[in-house]
Amino acid sequence: MMTQEQPVSEDDKCTKTEGWDHDDTGKRIEKRVTPNGTYYNELIVNVFCQVCGAEFIGPSREAGGFIGGHECLHAWEFGQAMSRDDGLTE
Ligand SMILES: [Zn+2]
Repeated sequence: MMTQEQPVSEDDKCTKTEGWDHDDTGKRIEKRVTPNGTYYNELIVNVFCQVCGAEFIGPSREAGGFIGGHECLHAWEFGQAMSRDDGLTE
């Protein structure tokens, strides 16, 4: 039985604060200090953009920003393409 109370084992800890790669995916960063705040116990995740295939490995918070940023960009690109198709430009 898995419990939520299990302590994080040494193997699951990541002491890196930058430069994460595939080997770090699934580990936790115990503490990460940034200009915006201090993050504790963040999971390192591996995500990618389904539209353009870009990949990101890093803290959950940044992964969310990566996905959101790509979504926003591709939505904008899509909007641009649609308006061209409508013949509204030129
Ligand atoms: Zn993308």
